[in-house]
Amino acid sequence: MTSTKHLLIGGGLACSQAAKMLRMKESGSSITLTSKELHLPYDRPPLSKELLRGEKSIEQVIYDPPRFFEDKNIGVILGNPVVALDTHVKTVELAGGEVIQFEKAFIATGGDPLRLNIPGAKLAGVYYLRTMEDARRIASEAGPGRRAVVIGAGFIGMEVAASLTHAGVDVTVIETLPHIWPRFLDTTLAKYVQDHCETRGIRLCDRRQTPRAARSRPRSLCAYRIGYANRV
Ligand SMILES: Cc1cc2nc3c(=O)[nH]c(=O)nc-3n(C[C@H](O)[C@H](O)[C@H](O)COP(=O)(O)OP(=O)(O)OC[C@H]3O[C@@H](n4cnc5c(N)ncnc54)[C@H](O)[C@@H]3O)c2cc1C
Repeated sequence: MTSTKHLLIGGGLACSQAAKMLRMKESGSSITLTSKELHLPYDRPPLSKELLRGEKSIEQVIYDPPRFFEDKNIGVILGNPVVALDTHVKTVELAGGEVIQFEKAFIATGGDPLRLNIPGAKLAGVYYLRTMEDARRIASEAGPGRRAVVIGAGFIGMEVAASLTHAGVDVTVIETLPHIWPRFLDTTLAKYVQDHCETRGIRLCDRRQTPRAARSRPRSLCAYRIGYANRV
């Protein structure tokens, strides 16, 4: 069993910053950062923009290179999520079976996109965007002549729509609420942005019912049925 004073569970922006601050305050204490992902902490905003458009690589979006963690003597464990936490004896167990004893644990395991609970949601061709791997999978499918449906017209949905359009994909966006960015734009401003998106080739669907993925090939998603009328 290994031990560390500070165990940072997560490996996103929060853990990366926590590691730096702890090292600044405590030059001699042991710090270990452990993440489910295979990459050093990286910036997620480019996932829906430059990374999706192939304009940036992983090396350009990680906050700090491996050398930084070596120089600062911060232990890093990647691709090995914490699967059990015992606060009484102060240990965690990793998926690989290792047990780590800690004095203090900082949990910053982030968020996850809401999973769609609709028929067909698990078919191949349905993607969520949260990680580097998600962005790479989506980018590998994008290209002229391809068609995509983006479900959700929040910031990330509209950024993905813009990036895919940039790659030559024919994009339709579906939003359950009456306009894009419904949580922070009023109708007037939203219409202005929507009109701009439409001039760039993004189709915005005025949908009134929950979409249903229509399977027309075994195990692969080919279409979304919207309400009873439209098929995209
Ligand atoms: C596509 C996209 C675009 C974005 N664009 C913007 C933007 O333009 N502006 C903005 O302000 N914000 C943006 N955000 C949001 C921003 O990225 C988040 O606010 C930020 O990533 C939160 O950092 P975090 O460290 O709290 O969590 P996260 O970055 O989610 O990191 C949590 C980490 O914990 C790991 N983890 C989960 N469970 C375990 C476990 N059991 N054991 C070990 N590790 C685990 C996860 O794999 C993940 O790597 C965007 C997010 C995405 C996905």
